[in-house]
Amino acid sequence: MENIKELHSLLQQPKNIVILSHRNPDGDAIGSSLGLYWFLKEYHHHIQVIFPSDYPTFVAWMPDANKIMICDTEKEKSFEKILSADIIFCLDFNALDRIDPMEDVMKKTTAKIVMIDHHMFPENFSEFTLSKTDRSSTCELIYEFIDLLHETEKINQKIADCLYAGMITDTGSFKYNVFPSTMRVAGALLEAGANNDFIQEEIFNSLGEKELRLLGHCLYNRMEIHEELETGIIYLTKEDFETFDIQRGDTEGIVNYILKLKNVRVAAFIKEQPTIIKLSMRSKGDFSVQEIATKYFKGGGHKNASGGYFYGNIENCIDRFKRSVKNQLALEK
Ligand code: 5GP
Ligand code: MN
Repeated sequence: MENIKELHSLLQQPKNIVILSHRNPDGDAIGSSLGLYWFLKEYHHHIQVIFPSDYPTFVAWMPDANKIMICDTEKEKSFEKILSADIIFCLDFNALDRIDPMEDVMKKTTAKIVMIDHHMFPENFSEFTLSKTDRSSTCELIYEFIDLLHETEKINQKIADCLYAGMITDTGSFKYNVFPSTMRVAGALLEAGANNDFIQEEIFNSLGEKELRLLGHCLYNRMEIHEELETGIIYLTKEDFETFDIQRGDTEGIVNYILKLKNVRVAAFIKEQPTIIKLSMRSKGDFSVQEIATKYFKGGGHKNASGGYFYGNIENCIDRFKRSVKNQLALEK
């Protein structure tokens, strides 16, 4: 961010600020949004965090999570906030279709737009941009942003807890997506008071019985392994959603279990939703699920973790995924 000084001076006077993150917000989306929110509160700005859709319960402990506006339920108010903002921070996404239905109103706002994000191939819609793919998470980049402003001494425990939580969700507790900077920032957040034990419990050890049984169902009844493709797939049908009363966030992390298999390099978790089929893809090493997500499923993300969607029935979606892996493996040779 070469023009950071300009942004720094804008932030010196109280402003109307909106912080936006992507649909189906994950720990990094909410952690970076609330971490930045608590940091900007130090400057007495008027701040509203807005998400397109609601967040999962395992992040509801974050301070002021209950003040986040959800566009799906408060559409007009969300649009008004965007149109009357002086500055809008776009966190953990780099393509405006990730904040549908706010995409159009974003094109009309006169606010200064700031993008802080760690996905590949950013779109060109921001005046201030901190976009790096060699970072674990947007939370790590929020720390870097605060450091660029020379304001790390303002990081209090609330900010540290939120940012640390996002870092552990996007790295699976520092198992993947880890760079030297990741550990340095995590250390600094612990020094600033982040409560590792509490956050680990809230994020990784707070399943209900229903969710753990759902995991069992996925692994026992809904997992296909295709050895020739070094690929594993777990799918859930609409009926599964009813039988298990699956709610937002209940299926978080299930895709990662497939990668525990030694001979699997590619994994997909495929969910049949009311109108679309949503795919969550993961890989090990050099295999790029980002390319598959972009080429075949109108999506994107990172080399080893991407998402996308499909219109049609679930069998066709599974077939398309298998063919896409086959094509991608052929390209590797
Ligand atoms: P997850 O599988 O955890 O939902 O998402 C993994 C990664 O892929 C995240 O970084 C997320 O931002 C990205 N992603 C998930 N779904 C989509 C999508 O529909 N479009 C794009 N462009 N990225 C997605
Ligand atoms: Mn992220």
